[in-house]
Amino acid sequence: MQVLIGGQYEPVTITRKKVKRITLRIGKQGEILITCPRWTMLYEIEKLIYTNEAWILDQKLRRRKEAEVNREGISGDTIWWLGQPRRVSYESASRDSVTIDGDEIRFFLKEKTDARIEAAFRKAANKKLLELAEEARAAWDTQICDPKGIEHPVIKTRYMTSRWGVCYTTKHVITLSTRLIHYPEECFEYVLLHEYAHFLVPNHSAAFYSVIRRYMTDYRERIRLLK
Ligand SMILES: [Zn+2]
Repeated sequence: MQVLIGGQYEPVTITRKKVKRITLRIGKQGEILITCPRWTMLYEIEKLIYTNEAWILDQKLRRRKEAEVNREGISGDTIWWLGQPRRVSYESASRDSVTIDGDEIRFFLKEKTDARIEAAFRKAANKKLLELAEEARAAWDTQICDPKGIEHPVIKTRYMTSRWGVCYTTKHVITLSTRLIHYPEECFEYVLLHEYAHFLVPNHSAAFYSVIRRYMTDYRERIRLLK
């Protein structure tokens, strides 16, 4: 069976078995998977798929982004690190770690598994981003927070695929996405300023972008690089 989703025909894998209800899942490669009772009519399956079209497209996009990161960074022999491609090498070691050595990224791993590579890489990426944030933040602490008596935020990192950063204005926490490590440092700088600017303007109105423009005239260019 095929369905038209987001303007494209997509195959649907149907598994009929002893279950009570129809369920819809999206597989690792973005496939549409249906599990349903044996007697389910095709129109019921179609109806479930079409009422969840937006969710399906969102999930497919998410799967694609995850796959991209894996390709960009984690399983291939090249990793983009701050906008530059770096060669990857693997060595065995008693403890997992990653070092950036010129244009080479060296993984030291107890066992070479995807999970260990990913975990070690994310740890190194988060560490680097926090170092960059530590240098870059002084300007925004003094120019954005201090004039309004706003508490300096705690800056954290987290692996996020749906956004580059989040500002929890009431908790005074800025969270940056680990994935920023793949992009040029200019992009990281923009996202950091973007989140700080939310302390002054919570939404993305014209007033918000006029704050951004005041400190970073080329912000549009940086946003473009992130796309
Ligand atoms: Zn924002």
